[in-house]
Amino acid sequence: MGTILNIQFFSNKKDASRILDNVFEIAVKYDKIFSSKQTYGEVYRLNQTGMSDNQDIYQMLQTADFYNKATGGIFDYTLFALIQLWNIETALSAPNPQQIAAALEKCGTDKVAFENGKITLYDNIAIDVGGIAKGKILDLICKYLKSEGINDFIINGGGDIVLSGLFNGKREWNIAIKDPFTEGSVSGYIQTTDVTIVTSGDYERFFVAEDGKRYHHILNPETGYPAESDVSSVTVISPDSVCADALSTALFVMGTDKGLDFVNQYENVEAIFIGKNGISYSDGISERQIDTNRYFVINRNKSVK
Ligand code: ADP
Ligand code: MG
Repeated sequence: MGTILNIQFFSNKKDASRILDNVFEIAVKYDKIFSSKQTYGEVYRLNQTGMSDNQDIYQMLQTADFYNKATGGIFDYTLFALIQLWNIETALSAPNPQQIAAALEKCGTDKVAFENGKITLYDNIAIDVGGIAKGKILDLICKYLKSEGINDFIINGGGDIVLSGLFNGKREWNIAIKDPFTEGSVSGYIQTTDVTIVTSGDYERFFVAEDGKRYHHILNPETGYPAESDVSSVTVISPDSVCADALSTALFVMGTDKGLDFVNQYENVEAIFIGKNGISYSDGISERQIDTNRYFVINRNKSVK
């Protein structure tokens, strides 16, 4: 997944290392399935051959398609050609408009067919599930830990965080949201549990081109360019890890106004938008000041379970 996976759990079990081994086995197994960039990836293979009957991919893409429709196309799992073109990890300059138009021709969820457990891709469309795969893998790890009777844990997959039960059997977990504008600073804290918290931002995966402009990794499928959003980070809180991951990416593209309207329609999803103009959050969140720190309080009876 191109990131660090960090797990902490509290349990009386003596075989913690066996459980951790199994957790990392799950992560490695599904990374292999969902990777579109590595030649070992099943999604890579789907993109090469134009078809797959792998059931993990089938289900993942059906879920991705659900979020594509729910967000009016903003969450788009067919942006592989565009992501390749931008090549944020190593690029030095932005592609030109002709190249972007050509790459957009190779994107579009209408060119993906789902049929009896089989996926077929048409017209050179290729898949990238980078906006949702981490959420799915975290969900699987969470289910596995619970199946082992472990309920007090935190999983941190590159900033996508699953919280369960209590810290050391005593209190809820305390999660800091990075200040996207000042390295090493915190915008606020969330004290909660039994939810997943995912942040999408423009301040970690980006490059600065020769013209001094900053280009980041969340793309607007309508323009083909990195989303010109009024926010630098969006944090989504939901009991469903896949939902939190998909929507953090989509809400980033929508920006504050559209994003708030969107997220306020749903129960069980809350979001915090941080931009140059300040911090905004959805209806199920309120805030409290403790000492000099800002705390975001999730209003449970309204929203998250
Ligand atoms: P991160 O991977 O940094 O945690 P995100 O969850 O926001 O961040 O996912 C960003 C990734 O999603 C990109 O690297 C790319 O693979 C993919 N992506 C980029 N734009 C979109 C989009 N509009 N819809 C869906 N996936 C996208
Ligand atoms: Mg995401």
